[in-house]
Parts: sequence; C-alpha cells; structure tokens
Amino acid sequence: MQLAGWPHVAPIRKSAQPPDEILKACSVINKAAMNLTSASEVAYLKGVGPQRAAALAARGIHTAGDLLGYLPFRYEDRIHFTTVKEIVPGGTYTIQGTVADAGISRFTRRRGALYHLFVRDSTGTLACKFFHGAYLHGRFREGQRIVLHGKADLDPQRNGRIEMVNPQFELLGTDAADSTEVGRIVPIYEAIGVVSSRMIRKIIYALLENLDPSPADPLPAELLERYAFPARRDALRFAHFPPPGVPLETLNAFRSPAHQRLIFEEFFFYQLSLALRRQQAERQPGIAFRVREPRIREALKRILPFKPTDAQKRVLAEIAADLERPVPMNRLLEGDVGSGKTIVALEAATIVIENGWQVALMAPTEILAVQHFLSARRIFERAGYVVEVIAGGLKAAAKRDVAERVKSGQVQLLVGTHALLEDPIAFAKLGLVIVDEQHRFGVLQRKRLIDKGGLETGPLETGPLEKSSIGQPIEKPADKSIEINTNGKRTTPDVLVMTATPIPRTLSLTLYGDLDVSVIDSLPPGRTPVDTRWSSPEHLAGVWDFLRRQVAAGRQAYVVYPVIEQSKTAEARLSLKAAIVEYERLQKSVFPNLRLGLLHGRMRSDEKDRVMEAFRRGEVHILVSTTVIEVGVDVPNATVMVIEHAERFGLAQLHQLRGRIGRGAEKSTCILIAPKRLSDEGQQRLETMVATSDGFAIAEMDLQLRGPGEFFGTRQHGALGLEVANPVRDRELLEIARREAFALASNPESAGARRRLLGSLAPEWQRRYQLASVG
Ligand code: ADP
Ligand code: MG
Repeated sequence: MQLAGWPHVAPIRKSAQPPDEILKACSVINKAAMNLTSASEVAYLKGVGPQRAAALAARGIHTAGDLLGYLPFRYEDRIHFTTVKEIVPGGTYTIQGTVADAGISRFTRRRGALYHLFVRDSTGTLACKFFHGAYLHGRFREGQRIVLHGKADLDPQRNGRIEMVNPQFELLGTDAADSTEVGRIVPIYEAIGVVSSRMIRKIIYALLENLDPSPADPLPAELLERYAFPARRDALRFAHFPPPGVPLETLNAFRSPAHQRLIFEEFFFYQLSLALRRQQAERQPGIAFRVREPRIREALKRILPFKPTDAQKRVLAEIAADLERPVPMNRLLEGDVGSGKTIVALEAATIVIENGWQVALMAPTEILAVQHFLSARRIFERAGYVVEVIAGGLKAAAKRDVAERVKSGQVQLLVGTHALLEDPIAFAKLGLVIVDEQHRFGVLQRKRLIDKGGLETGPLETGPLEKSSIGQPIEKPADKSIEINTNGKRTTPDVLVMTATPIPRTLSLTLYGDLDVSVIDSLPPGRTPVDTRWSSPEHLAGVWDFLRRQVAAGRQAYVVYPVIEQSKTAEARLSLKAAIVEYERLQKSVFPNLRLGLLHGRMRSDEKDRVMEAFRRGEVHILVSTTVIEVGVDVPNATVMVIEHAERFGLAQLHQLRGRIGRGAEKSTCILIAPKRLSDEGQQRLETMVATSDGFAIAEMDLQLRGPGEFFGTRQHGALGLEVANPVRDRELLEIARREAFALASNPESAGARRRLLGSLAPEWQRRYQLASVG
C-alpha cells in the first residue's frame, strides 16, 4: 500500500496566556508544568476537575493516553470562514460572527420550542432555527463571539431568506488570540457528558504541550517504515490539531497518514491478540476423533433425514477435518436462516458420539432448546443415542436424574440453554460443545469466553464446580480452558459455534479472526422464496381477510408485535401490554371463529411450550407473538407472517423473523405493516426487506445503514477496542493489519521481536487489547 507523502507536523502555536489562566496556573498545583506521560491520570490534567474527570471515566477515559485516543469526529476550517453574504442555499458552511439576537418564538406540539438565533458578521445577518430548542434558553448573550457550522437552506416561510436549521455552534471565549478555537483547522469532538467539544479541545491542547516528548512507539519500527507511517506522537498531534493546508476532505474521511496510522494500530493489535490466542488454543491438547471409518459413515447415513446440499457437505468436511486433528476445534458455522445448520451440527455430534464421547448443545432461549431437543431426539432415534434436555420446566428431581446420567456418561447428547454454563452439570467425557447463537453479540461474548478459557470453566469440568456468569469477564488463567479429565489426560473439547445472523465477511474477519469460519451459502432445495410486501396500517382489514383465506386453505400464520423483551422498564411493560391487548382484540373482534395463541417472553416456560406445541400440531391457527419466535422455531405449515410496526424493527431482526416462514413447499407471504412515510433509513430498511431475502446482502445493508458501532451496539463495538478504526470504512487497512499481525505471530524468527513488542507495550495497551497474558 502506498500512503501519500507525510506532511510536516505543524508546531502548535502558543497562545498569549490570559491573566486568569496565569492566576489559575499559580494556584495550588501547577498542573501545566508537570511532565505528562500517556499513563498520567486524566484527573491531573489541566482543565480537568473532579466533575469532568468523572464524566471522562464514565466514557472509559482514565489516562492521558485514553484521552489522546479520543479523536475528533470532524474538522472545521476556521481559517477561511465563509461570510454571510457568500452563503447560497444547499451549501454547508462554517461562519464566524457575533450573536445579534436570540429567543423562543413559539411552541409547537410536534417540534417543541422553536428557538431563533441571529448571527451577524461584517457582511450581514444570518437567521438560525432550532427545533426543540427550549434547552437553549439563556445560552446566548448579544455580542458573544460564535462559530456556526451547518447547511444553509431557504426559509420555507419567508421568501428568499436563507437560514440554517439546527446548526452546530460553538461560543468562543473572550480571548481573541486563542489559537485552539479559530485561525486553524479546528477539531470537533463528540461531547462527553458535561465535557463539551470545546473543553475537550482545550484539555487535549494543553496535554499535547506538556506531554513527555519521547514515549515508545507501540508499533514495530519495521512496520512504521514499510508503510511510511508517522510516529505515534506525531500522528496524535496531527489528528488533534492538523497543520494548515491539509485538505479538509482528507481529514474528515480519516484518510491522512496520521489517521491511517492510528487506524492501522488498532486493527494491528486487535488482530495480534486474535493471532496469539489462536496459537495458544492450538497448543491445547485436543481430541483426535476417528472420522474415516465405515462405521461412522453408516451412522451418518442412518441419521440423515434428507440428502444434504453441496454446501452442507463441504461444511461437514471442514468440521470433520477439525475433529480429526489432535487440536481443539474453534469453528464458527455461518449460514442464513433456514440454510440447514442444525443437521450439520448433529452430524458432527454423530461423529463424536460414535467415538464414545459426549456432546453438549446450547441454545439461546428455552423455546429453542426444547426445539433442538425434540428434533435431535427424532433424528437420533434411528441411531439409538440417548438425548436429554435441561430446561426450566424440568422438576428438580428429573433434573438431578439427568445430571446424574450425564455425569455417568449414559447421556450422549445434552441440550440446554446457555444456563448449562452456570448449572453445575458435570460430564463424564465431553468431546464437543455446540453453541447456537441468537445475536451477533452473543457470538462475540461467547468468543470472548472461549478466549478467556471460560467457556466451560466450572460447569463442564469434572472437577469442583464454580459459578460463572455470561457477560462477566471470567478472571481465569488461560491454561484453565475447557479441560476435562479422561484417563488422567487433560483434553479440551472441540467447539462449534453457529450463528443465526449472517455477518459480512469483513466483520467476521475482525470479530472471529481466531476462529475458523465455515459458511453454508445456499438454501436446501424446494424452497419457494417468501413474497414480502409493505402495507400501511390503513389496509389492515384487507390483510386480515388474506389471513382468513389462508387459514381456510389449511395454512397457519404469525402476527408479530414489537415488544421490548428482557427489560423491566415502564416502556417495556407498556409495549407488552399493547401486544396482549391486540391479541385479545384480534381474537374477539377480528378472528372470532379462529383459534389464536399468544406467545411472549414473560410467560412461564411450560406455558410457552404448551402454546408452541399446539401451534406445531396445527391446533392454533394464528400465533400472536413477540420476537421470542425470532429464532429457530420451525413450523413448515406456517406460511404467513404479519409484522406490525415493522418500522420499529432492525433489519437483522426482520430477516430473522421472516425466516420462520417459507420453510415448506407452499408459497409464503410476509406482510410488513408500516406507514408509507418513514425516515430515509426506515424506508431503506423496509425496501431492502421487500427486495431481497439474501441474509448476507441484508447484513451488508444493515451495516451500511447503521455503521459498525450500531450494527453491534455501541458496547459491543467498544468491546473490540476499536475507537478510531471502522471495519467498513477501513476495510483495506484491516486486511493489511491482519496480514502483518498474523505474520508476526506465526513467524518463529520474529519470536524475539514479538516478546520485545509485548514486553514494551504500555499497560493501557495491554489492558485495551488484553495482550498482557500472552507472549
Ligand atoms: P438453520 O440454519 O436456520 O438452523 P435449520 O437447520 O433449522 O436451519 O433447517 C431449516 C429446515 O430445512 C429444517 O426444517 C430442516 O429439516 C430443513 N433442511 C435442512 N437441510 C436440508 C436438506 N439438505 N434437504 C431438505 N431439507 C433440509
Ligand atoms: Mg437453527
């Protein structure tokens, strides 16, 4: 890769010290004079008091290094301001002026208080409007210096007048010479609680002035040279306070060499941690299952209820090769909804069971665990394997009995929810753990548990049992991974993770760089694609007519409501109540002659089972449900799904829901009920659903629409340690970083370099990428 020439880093101009700054500087501690390193606590930085320190800490910013890693999300050219006279409608501008007038004109029900602001420069006055602007009351004083940034439009109410609606603004200090605010390209930060963009800028400016000049660069010198990356310190200085003359578009696209270096760095260390973990996993003693035996081939043939697709065969071959190796398998099985992952997992289980080992299958929900149990029992009946389930509905005595038989080795396949991790279930000879995941985050969580060696810590060990809870980091040394005791030899079971949600390739690289990935990329034969339509609420009567006709023709249907499950908020209670009320209304007034069932997450698990079973047997015609049916529920005779308030669901969720139909030979129809007028994003989401049923395409669109942060939820994104890097925008750098990291990790000649690198990494880096324990 060729990076553009590295422009010189401009010295940051010293500002004249205003008198109050000097006074402050003389008081108690002279914060500014301290020599700061990236390990210095933010609380000791100039401009950070206890309140701001607390706000920063809440955002995960504890040290000067953390703060330096908090980059501006946008830059403004405040050297060349546009004048009011130059503004034309449609353009985006940054202008500087003084406040001429400000105040609330009226309240509207829809848009709250309408706040007006007039800003004057030497050429004219610009009108600005803020909707929901009550919070601005008292913010502006006449004569204050202000910088505005926003898009100019024609005021629809006043002919020919140009205005800015909801512009971003910054009130400038009284010090005319403050070079952090104007006269340069100015960094704009996302405010952190009480700490505004302007404050962050000042704090970082002061920090950079007083930073120890020669911190070690975490990236190997060889890489800096190969890609002509600037040193870390220079890159940070550049990214926070770019020199004049750098094109604004380059900065705002994060394409400057400084940005590229910082992005590369994040990817590199993340990938390095994956590479090292992968190596570590491969050093664990695993089980070498026998695969190439006629007995096993026959067993596989016996259980298969249908001819596997080519994709299923290929994926099974990949899994079988892993099973055969004396190294623990860590494989992710990806495939769209309904692509037939379950049977592949059960084939893997067959190989393991035929070798005399046990298998654990974990599902994200009770409903799904029971479904898996029922279908596994049906399929394994022919092979005579003993299949059991641990579910909430089970009586304590029955549960104890199952646990006993698992421990003695009688039970060959145990199905349960992820609570299997928490329950004290001991296995005699656990050879394979299959994890079926509902959400992307789940996969990530699980991956991290596997990484930490915590997956089976406790519950699946034969030794003394410990409680572990999902989502909480399990502080355990890495060598205590999924080990079980067989004939005095410690071995680690193979792990197969299935995701129900397709993940675009770039992201699966980022996320699962330490797992092998198998993809089932085609659907089983004989599926008729689901016909998806978007209908507005006014047409519901017609939709219900359609449902009646379908039921009359012997079909079944789902009606889905958006309910916030797993939450105790008032909003969640209200949404659930709305779904229950709708169910009662549909039964009483719309479908009095049909049998309706209700399914939601707050029901007892035996009630849920009862309803599902009735639906499966065809005794319930229409299942009114929340998203609890999102995953795994398999009733081929259900061919219609109506999703109410479809605009409230995410793309991935809509796709998962729709995957419940189109499972039989009959044509299926999915009707999305949503207003015809939606936000651009909402519009795109529903149009995507209507246009395609390819899960990977939908995932890609989802990612485009929401960006990686939202795609995984902000927390999840943060959990990857990626602050600057964006796996979608920076695909190219990700691939390079991955190559370099894996090369460094696998080259025996670079063992020394690797040790030096890891040894010299500052604690904050080790904390961020959890590289501390490897080496
Ligand atoms: P998912 O990948 O969503 O878990 P499933 O494993 O539940 O998909 O499979 C969906 C449906 O397709 C099931 O009813 C299953 O029995 C059926 N199926 C899977 N593979 C095949 C195949 N090769 N031929 C015919 N039907 C299949
Ligand atoms: Mg499945």
